[in-house]
Amino acid sequence: MMYDVNKVREDFPILAREVYGRPLIYLDNGATTQKPRQVVEAMMDEYYNVNANVHRGVHFLSQQATDLHEASRETVRKFINAKSTNEIVFTRGTTESINLLAFSLGEAMVKEGDEIVVSAMEHHSNIVPWQMLCERKGATLRVIPMTDEGELELGRLEELLNPHTRIVCCTHVSNVLGTINPVKRIVEIVHAHGIPVLIDGAQSVPHMPVDVQDIDCDFFAFSGHKVYGPTGVGVLYGKEEWLEKLPPYQGGGEMIKNVSWERTTYNVLPYKFEAGTPDYVATHALAKAIEYVTALGMDNIYAHEQELTQYAIERMQQIEGMRIMGEATHRDAVISFLVGDIHHLDMGTLLDRLGIAVRTGHHCAEPLMTRLGISGTVRASFGLYNTKEEVNTLVEGIERVSRMF
Ligand code: PMP
Repeated sequence: MMYDVNKVREDFPILAREVYGRPLIYLDNGATTQKPRQVVEAMMDEYYNVNANVHRGVHFLSQQATDLHEASRETVRKFINAKSTNEIVFTRGTTESINLLAFSLGEAMVKEGDEIVVSAMEHHSNIVPWQMLCERKGATLRVIPMTDEGELELGRLEELLNPHTRIVCCTHVSNVLGTINPVKRIVEIVHAHGIPVLIDGAQSVPHMPVDVQDIDCDFFAFSGHKVYGPTGVGVLYGKEEWLEKLPPYQGGGEMIKNVSWERTTYNVLPYKFEAGTPDYVATHALAKAIEYVTALGMDNIYAHEQELTQYAIERMQQIEGMRIMGEATHRDAVISFLVGDIHHLDMGTLLDRLGIAVRTGHHCAEPLMTRLGISGTVRASFGLYNTKEEVNTLVEGIERVSRMF
């Protein structure tokens, strides 16, 4: 199939708007993506025509809403190739997925003297919940180091693993460097020691085909809003044998089997981890987003964005004083950069005036910034609707801002 980016853009009404009288060039997809009509209309349709609380109702609408919600779970299962819908827990996003796991796994199996391993390029969402757990339990956080090129030092990973290691947590794609980590290899190394692995898929799921059985990770987290779906919904995948072993995260409705003053028993998977009314409108809309990207083809999206990223890097490298962070062999559609000694905030603010939306700052990865010896970067991150023309405008914009300094 020919990937027709101009036709794709028609599905995203926001891309036609202007900011400061200039066409919007949206290059902040790492933070969140824009939504196609199919997603927004599904939400409207559900609120207008179906809305009722799920799971607890005998009436028609409740059953219909439940059917949509549970069908969405199946759509997610298929999308990441999980074995069973019991392994798909709906959360509010990657951050909540990781907090859930850090709490439940922490309660089940982390004690004083234990160790948790994360990587040098994690988002705060995959650092802080583990730090909080370590503080609660008297455990220690250890870090897989990174080369100057922005690749994890897998030789050093082996040295970090020991009988006290309880879990290894690593991002699939860095939201700063764009590095695509060899997650399959990481899982292999860690599993040889009988230790489970969590992969943070927030930045991979929107850009490439993901198969959790092929990766063989024990847990995998991602956010709906970064894959063209709505805000407020995300997923924690966990192998069934793991989720069975872990205690619930939050207490409340839906996660119980029976409640009495003496003793409460918990629901089966995945409901054990889903206390309270889920955002069933968002889960349905997430399924629509997944159907949307699946119809385009995750392989096609990957190829389109790879071409765009290569083109952008080649053009950007010709700009005087350009410093692109990270030179990993396998990299995704995220480019973090600095030009000369222009502050990232100045660059971002001036690009914004040209209609170009980029992100500036530490990108919720302060330890990584410290490792790079900088306070922040400008970050352009591409999505399935970005074009070479937009990259050209970005390059011209950067050159124009550079000339001003
Ligand atoms: N991990 C990574 C790698 C991310 O890029 C992000 C979002 N920037 C998160 C976790 C957190 O995602 P959310 O805010 O949707 O929970």
